[in-house]
Amino acid sequence: MKTVFLTIDVEEWFHLEYLTKYNLNKDSVETVPKIFNFLDMLDRLNIKATFFVLAEIAYKYADIIRDIRSRGHEIGCHGLDHELLHEKSDEQFEEEVIKARLILNEVLGEDVVKGYRASCFSMDRNKLDILKRCGYIFDSSYIKFVQHPLYGHLDLSKYNKVDDLIYEKDGFYEFEIPTIDIGKFNLPISGGGYLRLFPYLLIKILLQLYSRKHDNFLLYIHPFELTNIRLPFPEKLPFKDKFRASVGRRHNLKKLEKLLLKLIKEGAEFKTIGEAIETSNTMEEKDELYFSNRV
Ligand SMILES: [Zn+2]
Repeated sequence: MKTVFLTIDVEEWFHLEYLTKYNLNKDSVETVPKIFNFLDMLDRLNIKATFFVLAEIAYKYADIIRDIRSRGHEIGCHGLDHELLHEKSDEQFEEEVIKARLILNEVLGEDVVKGYRASCFSMDRNKLDILKRCGYIFDSSYIKFVQHPLYGHLDLSKYNKVDDLIYEKDGFYEFEIPTIDIGKFNLPISGGGYLRLFPYLLIKILLQLYSRKHDNFLLYIHPFELTNIRLPFPEKLPFKDKFRASVGRRHNLKKLEKLLLKLIKEGAEFKTIGEAIETSNTMEEKDELYFSNRV
């Protein structure tokens, strides 16, 4: 693997789409303040990641977000709230992405937020164009996982594929969430849920299959997947939802470290999404210089 993008959607456990319909005891347990073991691990491995922060919790966790930034990671935006984008009008979306970015920049004390990830990848083309107009320079919500009912169907026509998982149009970039084709189906092997669910050996095999066709890889995880703190589920929560939210959490951080170490050992370079864009822009400038010198 050439480049790996580690991404974290900074939200609370109760933002999980399949839990929102229940009456949840939201304030009793917080998972965001438990990510320090994970942050220390990234420091140890010298990995810089991209954190998409939900703006509605940014003031509450301002110190944590500033700490993430001061460790050299990139901060992006995960929306103002966690509602699905198809439930918002384009006008509402525009207002919210402007406001969310202002909140995050204010918390950070500098104008650094350039990227966006839609809740449940529910991005569409109109909203992508709005995002660009509002000054963002990248999005990472495109997934070809057709079986999932919530995920959006983002139309990327007129975008150029500039690298594996990376698409560009007029200086705006889309970073794809990788999936792996298995027969008729495809699996989003890059998600924290799959990391928790699958045994490590299976993840290794799937990654091997994936790397036959791909140079780049992207992972996405959430704070609740990086701690084993007990979540206060409502009594009537069906087994399926309880399972989805709790499977494999106990050893997940160790498993993730093992996976990251394996990728490092194999020569993968970890980059934030912003860094990858900068590198590609400098390469383009060099190409332009090269060709203009030749003329
Ligand atoms: Zn989310």
